[in-house]
Amino acid sequence: MTTAVVVGSGPNGLAAATVLARAGVNVTVVEAANQLGGGARSVESPLEGLVQDHCAAVHPMAPGSPFFKTLDLPAMGVEWAYAPIDAAHPLDRGEPGILRTSIDETAAGLGRDGSRWAAAFGPSARAFDTLSGVIMAPMLRVPRHPMLLARMGLVAGPPPALVGKIFREERARALFMGVAAHALQPLTQPLVTGIGAGIIIAGHAVGWPVVKGGTGVFTGAHIALLRGLGVRFETGQLVTRLHELPPRDITILDVHPRAAAGILAEQQPEQDRRAYRRFVPGPAAFKVDFAVSGGVPWRDPEIAQAGTVHLGGAAAEIVAAERVIAAGRMPERPFVLVGQQAAADPARANGDIHPVYAYAHVPNGYPGDATEHIIAQIERFAPGFRDRIVGLRARTPAESEAENANFIGGDILTGAKSPLQFLLGPRLSAQPYDTGTPGVYLCSAATPPGPGIHGMGGFNAANRALDVLQRGSRAPLERIGA
Ligand SMILES: Cc1cc2nc3c(=O)[nH]c(=O)nc-3n(C[C@H](O)[C@H](O)[C@H](O)COP(=O)(O)OP(=O)(O)OC[C@H]3O[C@@H](n4cnc5c(N)ncnc54)[C@H](O)[C@@H]3O)c2cc1C
Repeated sequence: MTTAVVVGSGPNGLAAATVLARAGVNVTVVEAANQLGGGARSVESPLEGLVQDHCAAVHPMAPGSPFFKTLDLPAMGVEWAYAPIDAAHPLDRGEPGILRTSIDETAAGLGRDGSRWAAAFGPSARAFDTLSGVIMAPMLRVPRHPMLLARMGLVAGPPPALVGKIFREERARALFMGVAAHALQPLTQPLVTGIGAGIIIAGHAVGWPVVKGGTGVFTGAHIALLRGLGVRFETGQLVTRLHELPPRDITILDVHPRAAAGILAEQQPEQDRRAYRRFVPGPAAFKVDFAVSGGVPWRDPEIAQAGTVHLGGAAAEIVAAERVIAAGRMPERPFVLVGQQAAADPARANGDIHPVYAYAHVPNGYPGDATEHIIAQIERFAPGFRDRIVGLRARTPAESEAENANFIGGDILTGAKSPLQFLLGPRLSAQPYDTGTPGVYLCSAATPPGPGIHGMGGFNAANRALDVLQRGSRAPLERIGA
């Protein structure tokens, strides 16, 4: 029987395990942490008994993902929950930008920019079913839908700061810039728009859902499915070298490329090892979970209906703050993302106490405490917020890395999404999941299609491994380990 070891149990590792186990492979998942799930966990917080999403909370990339479509989520007991508003972007003056699943409703709320928003994102959103299969496939393939990709490229190619200029009013400009800031890169660079545009398009196609009961409900159900397929799990084992693993035919690494270079050591061709070592982390997130009595008192009460709120003010202010962070300095007013999961899933609140999830963009490895920066940004648009906090728990970039080695210096995207790294991934190759070491594949968020909960790195890497195995292998598969 073919055997496989998956190192790392993030959503990509679990997706890889699913593909392999369904193909009849005997799979073991080895995880460094004591808990399975990587960036897709929820934690029982000591804050008023609330369930908090530890990392990923909102899932625009999941429902349309070809991997997720292979899962029978209702049978697994997993339900998506949708807030009335997907994302809101309040401003110091004037009306907020409001992003809804319906592109027509979004456009209707954007005044003179409505038709421009619909023209920029509508065609790709309407073709999302086809598009998601293309953009979530391994990159560097000859595109099967060149016109569709070219059309998306018109929006995704130029820097966000330039794309933002198509909008005449601040609310549309800022709404767009807030989503573009998810790339955690200077917003004046080309291709950085790709991540934000992808999230906007996916959102208009499938919404920005949360998992009812917390992201961990999905991961728990996924692990149960895998156990049912015979997959074994070993926790508390940080893998540092290949020889630590049991004998196997296939190895899939859901790890950072730098960690992969260490694990593969001299078994990886020197050129590939150098490329993996050079893979640079991006800026970080400083996260604070709050328990808030009565929820956030937004100046504009409509914002309370949004699952996600982007705080950073006008587009130009966000561009400036992201530039400062990329230069390694802490801005006074960093970009802050607020998650109000109870807007989608009211049972997340404990009576009148609401879980509020927030993180600020900070420089990689930022040693300071950004809690006050986050509170100040929320207060700016919700005066009185501070007085409603009944509990909080902060997580520094160093703590994020200590919990999950993929988040180097608190980089939540597993590698800077600079134009070159975003386009080429960790290693220039037509097979982005191959490591250069026969039988060993990389599947983490450093590989296409990148960060987020969609499982496609794992899905593609495992399919590549099976493909090589079945074809007797271009690079012959070696039994490694024993
Ligand atoms: C604060 C925060 C908020 C986020 N919000 C969202 C969101 O709302 N929506 C969204 O889609 N995404 C979000 N993300 C990003 C998302 O969580 C990640 O992109 C995703 O989890 C990546 O999945 P992965 O499988 O590649 O790796 P990870 O989820 O990072 O998992 C990797 C696993 O491998 C283990 N591991 C690493 N090295 C080793 C080793 N050497 N030996 C053994 N085990 C190892 C780690 O312990 C970890 O469990 C967020 C991330 C963070 C941190």
